Amino acid sequence: MKISDFFIQTFREAPAEAQVISHRLMLRSGLIYQTCNGIYTWMPLGLKVLSKIEAIIAYEQNKIGCNRILMPTIQPANFWIESGRYNDYGKEMLRIKDRHDKDLLYGPTHEEVVTDLARRFIKSYRQLPTIFYQISWKFRDEIRPRFGVMRGREFLMKDGYSFDIDQKSAINSYKKIFFSYLKTFKRIGLKPIPICAASGAIGGNLSHEFHIEAKTGESEIFYDYTYDEIDAQKGIENVAFEEIEKIYTAADEKHNSTTCKVPPTRLKSSRGIEVGHIFYFGRKYSESMNLVVAGKDGHPFFPEMGSYGIGVSRLVAAVIEANHDEYGIIWPDAVAPFKVVIITTQNNNEQADTLAERLYQKLLSANVDVLFDNRSERAGVKFSDMDLIGIPHQIIIGAESVKNGNFEWKERRSGIRSNLTFDETVSRAAGI
Ligand code: ATP
Ligand code: MG
Repeated sequence: MKISDFFIQTFREAPAEAQVISHRLMLRSGLIYQTCNGIYTWMPLGLKVLSKIEAIIAYEQNKIGCNRILMPTIQPANFWIESGRYNDYGKEMLRIKDRHDKDLLYGPTHEEVVTDLARRFIKSYRQLPTIFYQISWKFRDEIRPRFGVMRGREFLMKDGYSFDIDQKSAINSYKKIFFSYLKTFKRIGLKPIPICAASGAIGGNLSHEFHIEAKTGESEIFYDYTYDEIDAQKGIENVAFEEIEKIYTAADEKHNSTTCKVPPTRLKSSRGIEVGHIFYFGRKYSESMNLVVAGKDGHPFFPEMGSYGIGVSRLVAAVIEANHDEYGIIWPDAVAPFKVVIITTQNNNEQADTLAERLYQKLLSANVDVLFDNRSERAGVKFSDMDLIGIPHQIIIGAESVKNGNFEWKERRSGIRSNLTFDETVSRAAGI
């Protein structure tokens, strides 16, 4: 994409009400625009990142056999009356009446809708286990929307729901998702910390939150340093669930310093952003909504269920919280809106323009996600804009390039520069 064709606008300052760094950087680099309180428009650059995160999540879900669907955002109230949650949910739920005076709502989550779907389509134990998931917009009328898309009112969530024949199988589905989430967050370029939120399948309860460490995280998290050590040694996603469960983790009030057995020197306390949350809750919805399935022995039974959420739009902010410096965002390659940017410092120089155009065309034909900053701005303006929007690799065309046809390749994160020939540049860019 040439920047002359791309709708992009950067700002020197962020509004004073934007307090946290990710919110400030998202506004300054024009990723989002607040349409009204807690409700955002995703601008071209922001949407590119959001879509990349979405694609990684979908890929990892599909890989473990989850079935992608898309449920409606508007739901009938009667499902929630059936499940018993209609009154409990309170003011976070946006309640709507249609022209026939029927009660509808904008979905804050989809357990009821998916259970209704399952009672229509899942009739036999042979169809189990089944996991459905979707990536869709939710609405929660948060009492205090803040930090930009970190806590919005309308936000993008990946929500998944598992249906199993019995508790053992349900826990198996839960573990499958647990590991898939670890891999997903790592592929996005983050270090996930699964925090035990409820343990013990007895009583049908098992739950983990996935946190990303950041100073601005809304939760206080505690975990045994063993977690970091094991992660560094083997990669936490390669460790058995039972081993991970042995490592002490807790968030907020669930942590009790008097009963916690981890010695203070081994206990890490920091702040976390909750980017995912998974639950095993048994037959809560299958029973209340009468989802019955014919068992092997012919007897009908209520399937065991779990639900699994990832805050897709919140992840964009979390990635920035974990990857930035004083100049701006530093996107991990996997989710960068563009992988490389071509910047020419030589304005009104036909040779430089020709060289840049030739490189741009070559990168396009090599399928490189490339941005070409072809503005006739001062080099300093271009550099500070590109540092701000955080394209991870910069290819710079300077005075020398015009003479020898070589480029300077600069890594946004480390600042390391190298001189590359035309062909070296193309193959390096194609290899990212
Ligand atoms: P929180 O504790 O942050 O309010 P939650 O526990 O209510 O979140 P879940 O119902 O577990 O949220 O939803 C799954 C995921 O959706 C969360 O882990 C979070 O990443 C994301 N999420 C929840 N609420 C919001 C919001 N208002 N804005 C953006 N993302 C959100
Ligand atoms: Mg939660």
